[in-house]
Amino acid sequence: MEIPGFSHLYSGKVRDLYTPEAPEFQHLVLVVASDRISAFDTVHSPQIPGKGENLTRLTNFWFDRLDVANHRSDELAVPEVVKDRAMIAKRLDMYPVECVVRGYISGSGWSEYLETGAICDVKLPAGLQFGDKLPEPIFTPAFKAELGEKDQNINFEETIRLVGQEIAEKLRETSLKIFEGASQVAGESGLILADTKFEFGNDPKTNVLTLGDEVLTPDSSRYWDQELWIQGVRDQSFDKQGVRDWLKENWDLKTAPPVLPHQIVSETSTKYEELSSRLGAI
Ligand code: ATP
Ligand code: MG
Repeated sequence: MEIPGFSHLYSGKVRDLYTPEAPEFQHLVLVVASDRISAFDTVHSPQIPGKGENLTRLTNFWFDRLDVANHRSDELAVPEVVKDRAMIAKRLDMYPVECVVRGYISGSGWSEYLETGAICDVKLPAGLQFGDKLPEPIFTPAFKAELGEKDQNINFEETIRLVGQEIAEKLRETSLKIFEGASQVAGESGLILADTKFEFGNDPKTNVLTLGDEVLTPDSSRYWDQELWIQGVRDQSFDKQGVRDWLKENWDLKTAPPVLPHQIVSETSTKYEELSSRLGAI
């Protein structure tokens, strides 16, 4: 996409990054959330209407409520063409660690627990069932792989090797603190925050560890309905689980992926919207 006054810098699976052309704003970056959907590390078609807007809306909602330095900046206005799907941010030196926090057991954590009794070498009690609440939230980092490769769960020692002891501890402490605060806010809307992933970077201007990327969106987090969870429903979610389930049944994960049917697209679009509205972000 052409954005007047900005040059394209990088495109991930979901977001497109642009830098301002003005030399005095090189410390900023425009983060545009597209409607692209990725599942099993592949981008699928068609796009999900309203998704980018909801990702941006939710990130703004959480930045307003979290007591942690974040990358949002008001030094420039968001360009009109991407008005509701973009954020002006401080350009950070990102740490190559995905800071995953889990309060409940599911997803890749469940598979790892079944095999080893632990997640990222964090030992867990025996006998946990899928979707159970953990005794306390745990930090289970992953190494951020290059575009097109799968992120890899790592233990805390490996995190220290990647970013140093001091930063590793700050990443763990800050991630757990945000998770605790966000879980409380979600709880007030009858939602469980089962797990989430944060990305942090260093702000080169101030040397402050800063929360970047998107936060607490359905792409980076698992939210569950508290009532359903209490009733024992464990396979629910407010995210792209429907897309994953459909792909598992209709795709071999090797050949070119099939186009998502209209029904799945519209259900997924509704899920993203529903989460924004449940949290009161709309
Ligand atoms: P995926 O998340 O789909 O695995 P990805 O992480 O490569 O792929 P996106 O999330 O679509 O791609 O794009 C966002 C990219 O921008 C990420 O690489 C993220 O680390 C980076 N990023 C986020 N915030 C900032 C920031 N403030 N400064 C610099 N880079 C950032
Ligand atoms: Mg990403």
